[in-house]
Amino acid sequence: MSSRVLKRGINIVTCKYNILTHKGIDLVSRVNGRNTTDDIITHSDGVVVWLQTGQKNNTKATGNASYGNCVKIKHSNGYYTLYAHLQDVKVKLNEKVSKGQVIGYMGNTGRSFGSHTHFEVRNEKDNRINPTPYIDSELPTANKITYQVYDNKKKKWLPNVKVNTNSYAGNFGNAVSGLKLDKLKYRVHDKIKNKWLPFVEGRTNYAGNLGNTVDGIQIENATYRVHIKNGGWLSWVSKVDNTNNGYAGIYGKEIDAIQIKKDNLK
Ligand SMILES: [Zn+2]
Repeated sequence: MSSRVLKRGINIVTCKYNILTHKGIDLVSRVNGRNTTDDIITHSDGVVVWLQTGQKNNTKATGNASYGNCVKIKHSNGYYTLYAHLQDVKVKLNEKVSKGQVIGYMGNTGRSFGSHTHFEVRNEKDNRINPTPYIDSELPTANKITYQVYDNKKKKWLPNVKVNTNSYAGNFGNAVSGLKLDKLKYRVHDKIKNKWLPFVEGRTNYAGNLGNTVDGIQIENATYRVHIKNGGWLSWVSKVDNTNNGYAGIYGKEIDAIQIKKDNLK
């Protein structure tokens, strides 16, 4: 047995969700039949979007101070996890973290009455939801993300493709001139204008100038690769920057297919 929050032990819930105003779940660790403290690990891959350090125990604390030393992580499906009352914090703000990475040690900081970890799950709107179903399973919707491309020869959007499958979006031989993708932030490089178009988030818009083929793509919080027209698949990319492996594509060469994986499902 293992836990998605505790490094060594199994989860023992000491206070459930929705007891009075409790919008998280309290955990201690059971190792060799005994309840104890433990290293706290990240539930899924993500980015540290908020943290608090240097906090002492204060059973009268309110607001953020009640969390004590705390780490909040954003995941690629748009959800957040939060780990409170830590004794120490081992990650930095904006650090990219991997599933299972140690982020701190269980403690008694903030509004706490004994060492434990307060664990929260929040949805894309940052609203706290019941974390119980997710303590040891994937966050919701992470496997429902789909994407599609605009086939510049057929002049139409091709069917949606699910992330993390062996499928890809595109028709080999037909260049792509648009990309639509759920939830994530992404942009494409317009081959005709020879420039990056603005970032788009989710499907409120699409990335591309339909009619102008694409020779580069960037997707935040994902691993992605492209297939070059009359060529092959390029290497997987998991960064977004101006370096050679910070985007997928070769400037001047049309892309005819795209494949995407989500980090927190690796
Ligand atoms: Zn709690």
